[in-house]
Amino acid sequence: MREKWKTPTLLLQAADAPHTESSLTDSMASRSEEDLCCPVCQEVFRDPVILSCSHSFCKDCLKRWWRERPTHECPVCKEISVNDPPLNRALKNLCESFLQERDQRASEAL
Ligand SMILES: [Zn+2]
Ligand SMILES: [Zn+2]
Repeated sequence: MREKWKTPTLLLQAADAPHTESSLTDSMASRSEEDLCCPVCQEVFRDPVILSCSHSFCKDCLKRWWRERPTHECPVCKEISVNDPPLNRALKNLCESFLQERDQRASEAL
Protein backbone atom coordinates (compact mmCIF):
# COMPACT_ATOMS: atom_id res chain seq x y z
CA MET A 1 0.00 0.00 0.00
CA ARG A 2 1.24 3.40 -0.92
CA GLU A 3 1.13 6.28 1.43
CA LYS A 4 -1.52 8.83 0.50
CA TRP A 5 -0.44 12.32 -0.53
CA LYS A 6 -1.03 14.72 2.24
CA THR A 7 -2.29 18.12 1.27
CA PRO A 8 -0.49 20.68 3.43
CA THR A 9 -3.66 22.48 4.40
CA LEU A 10 -2.38 23.51 7.77
CA LEU A 11 0.79 24.95 6.32
CA LEU A 12 -1.13 26.98 3.75
CA GLN A 13 -3.46 28.36 6.36
CA ALA A 14 -0.61 29.30 8.62
CA ALA A 15 1.12 31.16 5.79
CA ASP A 16 -2.03 32.98 4.80
CA ALA A 17 -3.14 34.04 8.24
CA PRO A 18 -0.71 36.88 9.00
CA HIS A 19 -1.42 38.49 5.62
CA THR A 20 -5.16 38.85 6.01
CA GLU A 21 -5.05 41.56 8.62
CA SER A 22 -2.23 43.67 7.20
CA SER A 23 -3.46 43.58 3.60
CA LEU A 24 -6.86 44.76 4.77
CA THR A 25 -5.42 47.78 6.56
CA ASP A 26 -3.08 48.44 3.63
CA SER A 27 -5.90 48.59 1.12
CA MET A 28 -7.94 50.83 3.38
CA ALA A 29 -5.02 53.15 3.91
CA SER A 30 -4.07 53.39 0.25
CA ARG A 31 -7.66 54.03 -0.71
CA SER A 32 -8.13 56.98 1.58
CA GLU A 33 -4.65 58.27 0.80
CA GLU A 34 -5.54 58.29 -2.89
CA ASP A 35 -8.64 60.33 -2.13
CA LEU A 36 -6.58 62.82 -0.17
CA CYS A 37 -3.81 63.20 -2.71
CA CYS A 38 -2.90 66.46 -4.36
CA PRO A 39 -2.71 65.96 -8.16
CA VAL A 40 0.33 68.24 -8.35
CA CYS A 41 2.67 66.82 -5.68
CA GLN A 42 0.99 63.40 -5.29
CA GLU A 43 1.15 63.84 -1.52
CA VAL A 44 -1.60 64.22 1.05
CA PHE A 45 -2.89 67.80 0.85
CA ARG A 46 -1.23 70.47 2.95
CA ASP A 47 -3.52 73.46 3.42
CA PRO A 48 -5.82 72.45 0.58
CA VAL A 49 -7.64 75.14 -1.36
CA ILE A 50 -10.59 74.49 -3.64
CA LEU A 51 -11.03 76.03 -7.08
CA SER A 52 -14.32 77.02 -8.70
CA CYS A 53 -14.12 73.81 -10.78
CA SER A 54 -14.19 71.90 -7.45
CA HIS A 55 -10.66 70.56 -7.83
CA SER A 56 -8.44 70.85 -4.77
CA PHE A 57 -4.70 71.45 -4.42
CA CYS A 58 -2.22 72.33 -1.71
CA LYS A 59 -2.01 76.07 -1.33
CA ASP A 60 1.71 76.01 -2.08
CA CYS A 61 1.36 73.68 -5.06
CA LEU A 62 -1.21 75.94 -6.64
CA LYS A 63 0.88 79.04 -5.97
CA ARG A 64 3.89 77.41 -7.58
CA TRP A 65 1.79 76.24 -10.52
CA TRP A 66 0.30 79.67 -11.07
CA ARG A 67 3.66 81.41 -10.86
CA GLU A 68 4.42 80.03 -14.32
CA ARG A 69 0.85 80.38 -15.57
CA PRO A 70 -0.52 83.90 -15.23
CA THR A 71 -3.88 82.68 -16.57
CA HIS A 72 -4.46 80.96 -13.18
CA GLU A 73 -5.77 77.77 -14.74
CA CYS A 74 -6.64 74.59 -12.87
CA PRO A 75 -3.74 72.08 -13.11
CA VAL A 76 -6.24 69.29 -13.82
CA CYS A 77 -9.04 70.61 -16.03
CA LYS A 78 -7.45 73.91 -17.17
CA GLU A 79 -10.48 75.93 -16.14
CA ILE A 80 -9.44 79.49 -15.45
CA SER A 81 -9.95 80.74 -11.92
CA VAL A 82 -10.66 84.39 -11.37
CA ASN A 83 -11.00 84.57 -7.61
CA ASP A 84 -8.53 83.55 -4.96
CA PRO A 85 -9.38 79.94 -4.08
CA PRO A 86 -10.76 79.52 -0.55
CA LEU A 87 -9.34 77.05 1.95
CA ASN A 88 -11.03 73.66 1.80
CA ARG A 89 -11.58 73.22 5.52
CA ALA A 90 -13.41 69.89 5.30
CA LEU A 91 -10.60 68.41 3.23
CA LYS A 92 -7.97 69.91 5.51
CA ASN A 93 -9.57 68.21 8.52
CA LEU A 94 -9.75 64.91 6.65
CA CYS A 95 -6.08 65.14 5.71
CA GLU A 96 -5.01 66.06 9.20
CA SER A 97 -6.83 63.15 10.81
CA PHE A 98 -5.56 60.83 8.09
CA LEU A 99 -1.96 61.91 8.69
CA GLN A 100 -2.41 61.58 12.43
CA GLU A 101 -3.73 58.04 12.02
CA ARG A 102 -0.92 57.18 9.64
CA ASP A 103 1.68 58.50 12.06
CA GLN A 104 0.12 56.50 14.85
CA ARG A 105 0.17 53.36 12.74
CA ALA A 106 3.78 54.02 11.82
CA SER A 107 4.88 54.44 15.43
CA GLU A 108 2.95 51.32 16.44
CA ALA A 109 4.71 49.34 13.75
CA LEU A 110 8.11 50.28 15.10
ZN1 LIG B 1 0.33 69.42 -3.47
ZN1 LIG C 1 -10.28 71.84 -12.26
